[in-house]
Amino acid sequence: MSTEPVVPAPSSGWETVIGLEVHCELRTQTKLFCGCRNSFGEEPNTNVCPVCLGLPGSLPVLNRAAVEYAIRIGAALHSTVQASMFHRKNYFYPDMPKDYQISQYDVPINAGGWLTLPGGRRIGIVRAHLEEDTGKTTHVGGGGRIHEATRSLVDYNRAGVPLVEIVSAPDMRSADEARAYVDELRAILVATGASDGKMEEGSLRVDANVSVRPAGSEEFGTRCEIKNMNSLRSLGRAVDYEVSRQIQLIESGGVVSQETRHWDEGAGRTASMRSKEEAYDYRYFPEPDLVPVDPPEEWVASIKASLPPMPSERRERIAEMSGLPAGSEAVVTVVRLGLDDLVEAVGAQGADTKSVGGASPAVAAIAVKRAANEVASDLAGAANLERSSFAKLVRMESSGQLTSAQARTVLKSMLEAGGDPEVIAEGLGFEAMESGGLEAIVDDVIAAHPEEWARYSEGEDKLAGFFIGHVKQATQGKADLKSASALLRSRR
Ligand code: ADP
Ligand code: MG
Ligand code: ZN
Repeated sequence: MSTEPVVPAPSSGWETVIGLEVHCELRTQTKLFCGCRNSFGEEPNTNVCPVCLGLPGSLPVLNRAAVEYAIRIGAALHSTVQASMFHRKNYFYPDMPKDYQISQYDVPINAGGWLTLPGGRRIGIVRAHLEEDTGKTTHVGGGGRIHEATRSLVDYNRAGVPLVEIVSAPDMRSADEARAYVDELRAILVATGASDGKMEEGSLRVDANVSVRPAGSEEFGTRCEIKNMNSLRSLGRAVDYEVSRQIQLIESGGVVSQETRHWDEGAGRTASMRSKEEAYDYRYFPEPDLVPVDPPEEWVASIKASLPPMPSERRERIAEMSGLPAGSEAVVTVVRLGLDDLVEAVGAQGADTKSVGGASPAVAAIAVKRAANEVASDLAGAANLERSSFAKLVRMESSGQLTSAQARTVLKSMLEAGGDPEVIAEGLGFEAMESGGLEAIVDDVIAAHPEEWARYSEGEDKLAGFFIGHVKQATQGKADLKSASALLRSRR
């Protein structure tokens, strides 16, 4: 292995370009071309048969469930789902018993598409095709790399497990964005039901193509492909390292050569595996044992119709309800944790509650933030939390019946033992201002200062302090100022 130094962060004047290839294992019961069980973590070589061991005379039979998952993925990524065919990709490696992998080449099942990151950026998808996984080798005696090993063990349980490989366009511009892409893609794959999303079990495996170019340049630089990153953290570290390496190389008069590099987690650097000259010639040719896959239109349509809303659509919906940006941490967290219905429950209650100003986005915004900040910290509790009780609690807080601190205490008790927030509050002796009392005062203050109110309503946020000051005065300092602020916003 080379001993390249760890180099400092990239200097300005350079732009990073990243394209990712993500392999996703499909959650089918059986393998792609045989009836062997598709199951992780079993006794080695127990889920095998003549087909997935590549024995002569055996023939592949395509798994319908794998095709359906591939179509679900394509539909979720806005791809064109099309008639496709299988090819043989030839290369020799002991974990691949047939010495070729059945994959898709120039006619993949899903062509084109995109996904949307929480910040709103769209990342292009080039293709998402079906292929079979290889077996798994373990190198024994030494550090786990083949050249230090005394023996290598091979397990064919994974050979023939269905994969969809999702190839992105070279649209990402930083390690953070690459991580955000994988995070989003993982959420989409889980939403389709195709994947369990477990990177640590190898259900999702990421290869990163990385290049740099002078900022403002239209042309792409020469890329390196980095393999062996098995967490979002190592993806980020590997990309950052590789970007710095390439920039330093170019700035010192060198050129980047196209090659495959290995990410060494322990050493924190990438090292060359094979150059373009040593690259395999895969000699792709059409798989003669399989007919083209041409899924009927009605089937594709019914699969598309059965998909649940994807994370970006859910973020849009929560954003619309709450008035918070779709990319805000609160909204992203609510969707990530699947607390959408919690927020919807509050929205629904707000709609028939005149006391909080109708279907107030402010109330929903509070709900989103609460769901994200409070409930998220106790997931187990969140699952048991009665949606309508939570909605009631939010209403009690936003109407000034409870202070924020009191509401938090009540929420804690609800998470532990359930119950009605009003009863809990009473039991705890929380008798803040009479229900509606604070609201009436806030409304009076607004009515008394129409001019300031108009300016505040049009976005002059600093006038909030003016109104809060008057509320404070009117209540001789007894009002909960957080509730007063929330009320003020809900009236806007
Ligand atoms: P190959 O078939 O050799 O893997 P592709 O053209 O299909 O090559 O690209 C593979 C991946 O590399 C894609 O994700 C693509 O976005 C990305 N990629 C292509 N060119 C570049 C580049 N100059 N810099 C970074 N990524 C790139
Ligand atoms: Mg590639
Ligand atoms: Zn088999």
